[in-house]
Amino acid sequence: MAMRMNWQLGRDMTYPYEAPPPKRQIAYIFDTNKCIECQTCTVACKTCWTSGKGQEQIFWNNVETKPYGGYPMGWDMRLLEETPPAKWQKEKLVSLTIFETDKPTDPPHGHRPDVQDYGAPNLGEDDITGLVDKGEHFGAMHPMWMFYLARICNHCDNPACLAACPRRAIYKRDEDGIVLVDQQRCRGYQECVRACPYKKVFYNLVGRASEKCIGCYPRVEQGEVALCVESCIGKIRLHGFLTTAAPPRADNPFDYLVKIRKLALPLYPQFGTAPNVYYIPPLHVHDGFLEQLFGHGVEQSKKMYRELSKDRQLLGALMLFGATNRIINRFAIEGDEAVGWDMDDREVVRVPFTERTYIREHYDGKHDVYRHNTT
Ligand code: SF4
Ligand code: SF4
Ligand code: SF4
Repeated sequence: MAMRMNWQLGRDMTYPYEAPPPKRQIAYIFDTNKCIECQTCTVACKTCWTSGKGQEQIFWNNVETKPYGGYPMGWDMRLLEETPPAKWQKEKLVSLTIFETDKPTDPPHGHRPDVQDYGAPNLGEDDITGLVDKGEHFGAMHPMWMFYLARICNHCDNPACLAACPRRAIYKRDEDGIVLVDQQRCRGYQECVRACPYKKVFYNLVGRASEKCIGCYPRVEQGEVALCVESCIGKIRLHGFLTTAAPPRADNPFDYLVKIRKLALPLYPQFGTAPNVYYIPPLHVHDGFLEQLFGHGVEQSKKMYRELSKDRQLLGALMLFGATNRIINRFAIEGDEAVGWDMDDREVVRVPFTERTYIREHYDGKHDVYRHNTT
């Protein structure tokens, strides 16, 4: 059984395949503080990629309300109930991953949801943790909470779906780390559906094969961000690459936010797949719950986020979210602006720290009209 270093766990772990890391790794950062659950991302992905027969209940991108929501229903609670709770000693996971829970020769520990678990993709929408007393909402922040969690395939470093497939129909691309299902090789055994702890491989009952988020690879190959990223109304998303073959670069917004500053954290790192969608935790949710979800580092991340106004480099990196449809490879702060360059080192975006406002004269003599400033 191969051992490999999992940087998110701070230790080596077993993984059934030996494979060098990809040349660079596609990654996403989602700022949960900004998501309004408008589902524009869900619809953008659905209308482009999964509008065919047998895909009616398949959402490669979904946005659910935590703590009670989940698509498919109970995807995370079921696994969490079956496995011992995550235990951390500082930055090292001392409990077992899904690859280590059962015998080394067994597939990763998991379960296969029932068909009806996919039937209500937004069950639990806007449900909060308890009742809000009468009149409480007029006062300061009340103790009840919920937040929106946008989810897509994590294009994991150690994909459980890939490890479980007896047909070797799932592969991870060397050029960008995107994980794909070979539709010709797949025979529909659904071992990937069982193994993926995030339940982001779906079985198409009509096509009789498994399918999953393709990371919008045709767009990525052109240097463009994914559709769910470009369409995001709340500008909560950033899409780009983590450096894998060299030390993290401070001018790469991904290396900077994920590996250097550690503002954005992986979802359920204790599963061991080393997921590559990273989340900025919601400020209003208590640390105990968030540490289950994002591992250690929640407190520090929230502290940094609260102090953003004093940290121009960090704030500048966050201002690039949703600012361009090009993948940003390099960024810098120049004067009062955050600037981004694409993979060809062309400048593609410039965002001012202070948004400019223009006050127009009430009377425009040139056009002989009266104007009103409405903002
Ligand atoms: S489009 Fe953006 S803001 Fe809207 S639900 Fe999706 S992630 Fe959230
Ligand atoms: S999230 Fe699931 S489907 Fe996606 S790469 Fe990881 S294990 Fe595979
Ligand atoms: S990356 Fe592309 S395929 Fe994947 S969820 Fe987003 S829009 Fe859908």
